[in-house]
Amino acid sequence: MTINKVSIIGAGTMGRGIAQVSALAGLDVILYDVAEAALAEAQSQIGRSIDKGVELGKTETAVAQAAKSRLTTTTELTDAGQVDLVIEAAPEKLELKRQIFGTLDEAAPSHTILGSNTSSLSISAIAGATKRPSQVVGVHFFNPAHIMKLVEIIRGDLTGAETVESVADYVAKVGKTAVFCKDTPAFIVNRVARPFYGEALRLLGEDAADVATIDSLLKSLGFRMGPFELIDLIGCDVNFAVTQSVYDAYFQEPKYRPHPIQRRMVESGRLGRKTGRGFYQY
Ligand code: NAD
Repeated sequence: MTINKVSIIGAGTMGRGIAQVSALAGLDVILYDVAEAALAEAQSQIGRSIDKGVELGKTETAVAQAAKSRLTTTTELTDAGQVDLVIEAAPEKLELKRQIFGTLDEAAPSHTILGSNTSSLSISAIAGATKRPSQVVGVHFFNPAHIMKLVEIIRGDLTGAETVESVADYVAKVGKTAVFCKDTPAFIVNRVARPFYGEALRLLGEDAADVATIDSLLKSLGFRMGPFELIDLIGCDVNFAVTQSVYDAYFQEPKYRPHPIQRRMVESGRLGRKTGRGFYQY
C-alpha cells in the first residue's frame, strides 16, 4: 500500500518532528492532541522550524508553503483515524497507548496501519488492544526527528510483511534510513544506550564528578552529546519512563535499575529543555 495520508497522535517533542518531516515529504498530515493549546503551539513551532530550513537553504520556499498547507490539526481521535498510517507519539504509558489503539482500531478504515513511536514498550502488547495486530507496527524516530536519520521499524509477534513493507516505503519517502528490529525491550538503540545514562547517573549519585565533568569526559571519547545533555534534550520524564519500562521488561534486571536522581528530577519539574531547566538551565 502507498501511504499518502498520515496522522500523528500527540503533538509533543516527537509528534511535531514526525509531522514536519511527513508534510515536507508531500504527505497530508493530521496532528492530534488532547489539548487545543498544545496543537496551536505545535503548529506555530513546526512553521518556525520549516522556515528555518528555508533560511538555511535546505528547503525551497514553495515546498515549505505546501508543507504548511498540508498540515491540519484535530482534537477528535476518531478523525485522526481516517488516514493510511497513524503514528502514535503519546506519553510512554502502556495502558494509555492501548486505549488509544483500541479507539483508533474501531474508528479507522480496514486498510489503516497503526504505528507507535514508543521507545521501549512492546508492540505486541499494544497490538493486543486491537483486532488488526497484523497492521500494528513500531515506527521509532529519534530526537530531533527532523534531523536524525535513523528510524527503527519494529515487527510485533503478529505484524504482517505487507505492513512492514508499506512502512519501510514511508520511511524512505520521508528521507530516513530504516533498520528492522524484533519486539524486544527497547529494541536496538535504546537498549544499547541504557548504560550510557545509567552509569552516568550512578557516577553522579556517588559524587564521583559533577554533571558538566561527566558530560565533557564522554564527549572527549567522541560522543556528540554527554549523557546529561542528552537526557535534557529527550526530557527527564521520558527518559525515566523508558528506564522504568526496560527495567520491568527485564524482570528487574539490576543493570537497568532506574536511579533516584531521575525520580527527583521529574518530581521537581526539572524535565530538561522543555521546561527550561533540567540538569542544566536553558
Ligand atoms: P512529550 O511529552 O513531548 O509529548 C507527548 C504529547 O502527548 C503531549 O503533547 C501531550 O499533550 C500529548 N498527550 C497527552 N495525553 C495524550 C493522549 N491521551 N492522547 C494523545 N496525546 C496525548 O513526549 P515525547 O518526547 O514526544 O514522547 C512521545 C513518545 O515518543 C513516547 O512514547 C516516547 O517514549 C517516544 N520517544 C521519545 C523520544 C524523545 O527523545 N523524547 C525519542 C523517541 C521516542
